[in-house]
Amino acid sequence: METEKFDNNNLPSNSKNFIEQIIEEDIKNNKNGGSVHTRFPPEPNGYLHIGHAKSIILNFGLAKKYNGLCNLRFDDTNPVKEDIEYIDSIKEDIKWLGFDWEDREYYASDYFEILYEYAEKLIKKEKAYVCDLSPDEISKQRGTVTTKGIESPYRNRSIEENLDLFRRMRNGEFEEGSCVLRAKIDMSHPNMLMRDPILYRIIKTSHHRTGDKWCIYPMYDFAHGQCDSIERITHSICTLEFEVHKQLYDWFVKELEIFAPQQIEFARLNLTYTVMSKRKLLELVENKYVNGWDDPRMPTICGLRRRGYTPESIKMFSDKIGVARRDNTIDVSLLEFCVREHLNKIAERRMAVLNPLKVVITNYPDNHIEELDAVNNPEDFEKGTRKIPFSRVIYIERDDFIENPPQHFFRLSPGNEVRLRYAYFIKCTDVIKDPTTGEIKEIHCTYDPASKGGNSPDGRKVKGTIHWVSANHCIEAEIRLYDRLFLSEFPEQVEEGHNYTDYLNPDSLKIIKAFAEPSLANVDINTRFQFERIGYFTADKDTMPGKPVFNRTVTLKDSWIRKK
Ligand code: ATP
Ligand code: MG
Repeated sequence: METEKFDNNNLPSNSKNFIEQIIEEDIKNNKNGGSVHTRFPPEPNGYLHIGHAKSIILNFGLAKKYNGLCNLRFDDTNPVKEDIEYIDSIKEDIKWLGFDWEDREYYASDYFEILYEYAEKLIKKEKAYVCDLSPDEISKQRGTVTTKGIESPYRNRSIEENLDLFRRMRNGEFEEGSCVLRAKIDMSHPNMLMRDPILYRIIKTSHHRTGDKWCIYPMYDFAHGQCDSIERITHSICTLEFEVHKQLYDWFVKELEIFAPQQIEFARLNLTYTVMSKRKLLELVENKYVNGWDDPRMPTICGLRRRGYTPESIKMFSDKIGVARRDNTIDVSLLEFCVREHLNKIAERRMAVLNPLKVVITNYPDNHIEELDAVNNPEDFEKGTRKIPFSRVIYIERDDFIENPPQHFFRLSPGNEVRLRYAYFIKCTDVIKDPTTGEIKEIHCTYDPASKGGNSPDGRKVKGTIHWVSANHCIEAEIRLYDRLFLSEFPEQVEEGHNYTDYLNPDSLKIIKAFAEPSLANVDINTRFQFERIGYFTADKDTMPGKPVFNRTVTLKDSWIRKK
């Protein structure tokens, strides 16, 4: 598998992808009366992830673009793995992404009766039979890609016997695992999926929608294509692994003589440093490697939302990667680039010091407080300004001071002058250390009262601008510094003797206390900020009045120092 590296500034955005080309050709040929009807068909057996977002954006997006409709359909054919919790979360996530299925919320389980009739129809056409082999025997007798399968001894049961047995299966007369309904196709078919696939199995588990009405459930393969057909989906867009299923879906459509949707496959989205399989995501949650489905390190939509991602940034990402026909892996930094781009436009700026160093401004009057003006968003002046208090004792970032600086260090060092953002020019005069450990305890500076607002009084230049908070006015904020969950670029490509969990990043979450400007004391959950020079941060749901908790959404690419 290859990783795509993108030149972010040089991506095609107006060219048509291959699915759009197919659809436009169909419209031109007046296929299905020129209409476009797509669907997003999740199985409610987990939370949606960024890969699903890609599929949602694609399906709803195409419908919108071609004046068509897009259904939401839950392919809820396996009551053992499914849950109402997943249904609710899926709906919430699609809405959050900004899509609307209106009144077209469907369930495969709505069609259980029709699907059952379809199965009887196949039996009546001698195209399906009840097989008493165990699931194990069935899979053994399927053969391999190079050897033919073995026909089941039950394959030639009469129509009457099959109908009777199938009805009794439905009535609950048989134990789970004792028999299944299989299609009668060809046990030596080169496509393994065509070797008398299972259509129905007995599962004596209540279904979250149909309760105990059914004790036989259709296999996904017997439900999915037929549901598309029932809903008259014109373009059934799915991921590449369904290419081999197409032959089977076509066989069902032909034998059942029903509407034939057109299946179009595209490549699944994979991301570097990320696992995307639902099974693995569930394991990460269940084994507590992360704190729930919405842990900000998860690639789930709710995790990304909690992390601070916006729907716009996810759509921008989806747009940039386009639709591929070949499997590939996208560099996760492209996703980070997109959220940075969007947050740069919308996030208000604030100042917070993550690793504080005390600074005393010795020539600033004691007990004096000034309210200085700070711009909320230089990208959007309509966002206005706010006041931030300034006083004699402040905190700066420990990294912004070096006692013996290397060349080209333009921040604070003895004798060097820097600008305090929105405040004053200051110059370091003294370094106060712990006499035993030698650790720097605080530094002393003088300020130039004529440089108020950070403006040069006489044209003299300072090379560095640093952020700060006033020691007596700042508030304490909990900061959760998230990093990539995996250290390996391809955590799903596991080496011998390893498990993907071996590649977990032990430092993917660091929790620290920061000092933040007082305007951050009371923030609404999910509000996003740029902490100047540090990164983008989003108020977590654990935030309480006066006790903000911020998740780091993404680091800043450039600091001011490099820009200036
Ligand atoms: P499962 O193994 O449970 O089938 P799934 O990832 O296919 O998992 P579904 O709920 O069946 O999950 O997916 C719903 C839709 O989202 C399908 O149309 C599927 O093709 C699409 N989809 C799932 N994963 C991705 C992905 N990584 N990239 C693009 N589309 C995806
Ligand atoms: Mg699936």
